[in-house]
Amino acid sequence: MKDVILTGVRANEEPTLGNYLGAYVPMVELSNRHAATHQINMFVPDLHSFTTPIDHATLYENILRGVKYYLAAGLDIERDNIDVYRQSFIPAHSEMTWILDCFTYFGEMSRMTQFKDKSAGQTDSITVGLFNYPVLMAADILLYDAKYVPLGEDQFQHLEITRDIALRMNNKFGQELFTVPAPTAEQSKFMGRDKGLRIRSLTDPTKKMSKSDPSENAKILLSDDPDTAVKKILSATTDSVGVINFDFENQPGMSSLLQILALLSGKSQAEVNKEWVGKTRYGDFKKVVADEVYMFLTDFQNRVAAISDDYVLKALAKSEAKMNKIAERKLYKVQTAVGLRRA
Ligand code: ATP
Ligand code: MG
Repeated sequence: MKDVILTGVRANEEPTLGNYLGAYVPMVELSNRHAATHQINMFVPDLHSFTTPIDHATLYENILRGVKYYLAAGLDIERDNIDVYRQSFIPAHSEMTWILDCFTYFGEMSRMTQFKDKSAGQTDSITVGLFNYPVLMAADILLYDAKYVPLGEDQFQHLEITRDIALRMNNKFGQELFTVPAPTAEQSKFMGRDKGLRIRSLTDPTKKMSKSDPSENAKILLSDDPDTAVKKILSATTDSVGVINFDFENQPGMSSLLQILALLSGKSQAEVNKEWVGKTRYGDFKKVVADEVYMFLTDFQNRVAAISDDYVLKALAKSEAKMNKIAERKLYKVQTAVGLRRA
């Protein structure tokens, strides 16, 4: 059996250039690199979309667009062992969540910092779903015996609770019940990343670019009209040093632009820095970055537009049929272990 790599990006808000460079591109590269030796599950965690309020009228379209973004970023779904599927089309995710819920302690869930962060300051609109979503995430992972789960550092605590639940149930019901995902240190090593890319907000470069940032000028959306994106880059906050430097400490805005330029142009950071560091004309530099962003968005949006709903839906249906079989088999094993089915 091939080791399973599993990952997903929520479809709640329109992704940014930061998400593209920090998540889509590395995930797709990782998937294509390991496709010969691993099973790749790139899924859309659609049931995770409304743990916080969203516009439900656009959710279905956003989910399909999320799949198109994987493809436009280069995911090769024609391969048999690369699968893209929607969580809510595999009912076993929800059923498994309930069983796992009953082996997860309220105390350990209450320590989840992401819940504390996302619920801070709110009083009456905090849902049980927001509290419980790490258990749904555990089900997403354990149903497919995933060993590697590439995710951001903000999700490490949820991966740890997944490991705890799996170890706890293996101890009670037999060691072969679940594959325990690799510990977080091993996950990072597998991803080959400890550099931690952080594209900065265009209006406050001490912060990262975030899709939930209410300020439209702070972020480049993947759906931004390229001319609008150009204006955002040209008016991006930099510094008053007067000389271009690659120095996140003192010139974070400038450094983030240098990084965007390198990543989008395919040049190395050293090459880009050699060309620009020491120069004084910020305007000329921003124009070059803006041109690169313009070309990227035009090309990316053309690629997305060329992918039909029909193609996406067919690919999803094929993978969802395959994944339903795998997930149902695992669910049956767990139902049997807990005594719901005859051994
Ligand atoms: P939100 O504001 O809703 O938290 P976000 O932009 O932070 O949105 P997430 O959904 O939290 O996005 O994260 C999706 C993926 O994008 C994660 O793997 C995360 O590490 C990556 N990512 C998010 N922002 C950046 C950024 N500015 N630079 C690089 N990677 C990023
Ligand atoms: Mg985030």
